[in-house]
Amino acid sequence: MATNIILLGPPGAGKGTQARRLIEERGLVQLSTGDMLREARSSGTEMGQLVAKVMDRGELVTDEIVIGLIREKLDQGGNGFIFDGFPRTLAQADALEGLMKDEGQQIDAVVEMRVDDTALVSRISGRFTCGNCGEVYHDVTKPTKAEGVCDVCGSTDLRRRADDNAESLKTRLMEYYKKTSPLIGYYYAKGNLHPVDGLAEIDQVASAVSAVLNGTGSKT
Ligand code: AMP
Repeated sequence: MATNIILLGPPGAGKGTQARRLIEERGLVQLSTGDMLREARSSGTEMGQLVAKVMDRGELVTDEIVIGLIREKLDQGGNGFIFDGFPRTLAQADALEGLMKDEGQQIDAVVEMRVDDTALVSRISGRFTCGNCGEVYHDVTKPTKAEGVCDVCGSTDLRRRADDNAESLKTRLMEYYKKTSPLIGYYYAKGNLHPVDGLAEIDQVASAVSAVLNGTGSKT
């Protein structure tokens, strides 16, 4: 049976990077509400315009909107999902549980990616991604081999996110601690929380996540 997992952690914890590994290694499907919202923005939908300012400030968009986006994806069927950046509030977590139940599915593991705040600031301020294939880079820790060209697909469409700046990061961190971090207790109580050290090398984090999925990971 396919596995459905949640990657939980503050902005810059490496959720997107690990999600990409899981897509490659296990054929799971990534459901990133951040990506869905950015897509809505760039295609200029009414909802996209509505959320643009909220996202740029680093605040959370309404539960109703993101739950709607996830519902739409789950309605398209399939299993083996990586929830990346969702849920971010207790209301979203409750809604997800209901949605999964309706599909006859469940969340198998919640991977909590632990990183300290000082690391997040430098990670986020140097971050850029390939607009074509989504590969994630960093100015210092993971630059492209050739300046301005994606190592993976050769695209020159390298992008920095509008909200990856010091000011909105402050708000994003505050939103995380106020609204999202209570989910750690929520999933701990449910018995499926698995912390991993998000500060380790990408490969080591990937091994730790893999161990969780294979049922051998640490559990608090
Ligand atoms: P991310 O790419 O996950 O860092 O998300 C970027 C931005 O999209 C966040 O700072 C929020 O403004 C918005 N967003 C993404 N996912 C959610 C969510 N589950 N709930 C509320 N807002 C979200």
